[in-house]
Amino acid sequence: MTKKAIDVAIPVANPAKSMTITYVVSLSIIAILSIFVHFMLDKIIHEQSDSAVIVNISGQQRMLSQRVSLFTLEYLSTGHEESKAEALLALDKLNTNHALLTTQHLVSDDINNSYFSAPHNVDKQVNEFTTLVKQALNSNDGNTENYLPDVNLAFFEMAKSPLLESLDYVVHQYEHESIKKVAKLRLTQQVVSVIILLTVLVEALFIFRPMVNKVKDFADNLHKEANYDHLTGLLNRRSFEMLLDNTFELSKRNKYELSVLTFDIDHFKSINDTYGHDVGDKAIQHISDILQKNTRASDCTARFGGEEFVILLPQTEQQNAFLLANKLRKLIEDTPLTLNSLIIEITASAGVSGYQEGDNSSDDMLKRADEGLYKAKNAGRNLVFYG
Ligand code: GH3
Ligand code: MG
Ligand code: MG
Repeated sequence: MTKKAIDVAIPVANPAKSMTITYVVSLSIIAILSIFVHFMLDKIIHEQSDSAVIVNISGQQRMLSQRVSLFTLEYLSTGHEESKAEALLALDKLNTNHALLTTQHLVSDDINNSYFSAPHNVDKQVNEFTTLVKQALNSNDGNTENYLPDVNLAFFEMAKSPLLESLDYVVHQYEHESIKKVAKLRLTQQVVSVIILLTVLVEALFIFRPMVNKVKDFADNLHKEANYDHLTGLLNRRSFEMLLDNTFELSKRNKYELSVLTFDIDHFKSINDTYGHDVGDKAIQHISDILQKNTRASDCTARFGGEEFVILLPQTEQQNAFLLANKLRKLIEDTPLTLNSLIIEITASAGVSGYQEGDNSSDDMLKRADEGLYKAKNAGRNLVFYG
């Protein structure tokens, strides 16, 4: 038989494919969420370092404005060119930073307002401060005798102090915005981490656990298919022979008695022919029940073929096995199969064999039991014979 024909004949619900798909999907969900958390963390780190740079630059503005004022005043009072150069250098740096902050790092509307609207209007103040400083630096022209008038000094202080306040205010705004933004990112990252944990939990409970149960069911089914007869639930020939071999070796070593019975329904073909295959199946189940219910738990009944059964009787001598076989034969004869109004009388023949010195394998015993069965059939059926 080709593989395809077997697949059609015995459809087996192999969970391998659905399990693989489920497994891949479950892992993908966790992987995607983990990658998301990774990017969130990466973003937090970048955001923090970006914020540190901006806060640092905006913090520098305060120091630079003071430095500009200091050197400008020094130049105005002393006329030293080095002071003018230092003042211009600090002013240049102040303006470069200012351009950077106003063109690239206006984080929010609030900060934008601080730069371009009242009351702070930092941009306007910085421009005015720059103009004022430049005027002051140029007015002296390096002439040490040309002292700064008091009015200029006062004006200078006036322009400088609100600027300092505004610059401070902007630094705090940057810090505040950055803390807010990082806190938001952290919260998102924490929420996604919790979602990952929940996903793993849900997957474990609702995907992996049912998946494990499915595999267990599949393995149980395979085990059942391989070892048991589907019609009667009895052991099949293969597993019975393994059990028989095992019991034979044990009995031989421990010098226990061991017997085997074979049963075969008489004229079974005519039951099939008269009532149909379904009724034939019911008859097989009926005989199986009788044999199973009337033997010990330590005995083992198996379906050996179509309408043939075999019973293993550990620690049972041949004579007792014969008595049991006869009792079972009588029970079968006296217990017809009843299906609604249909009553079908059934008989069966049996062969008996016990372990004998010189038996090399369980096959020897089985062969003798079969010979007994053959004799019973030949002698007219519904009989029990030793092999
Ligand atoms: P004998 O008294 O000599 O044992 O005759 P018999 O008719 O019982 O024996 P035979 O071997 O001639 O026929 C057995 C029949 O059992 C043939 C086969 O179609 C039928 N059979 C085998 N397995 C099954 C089964 O699982 N279900 C049914 N309904 N019939 C089966
Ligand atoms: Mg038969
Ligand atoms: Mg037969």
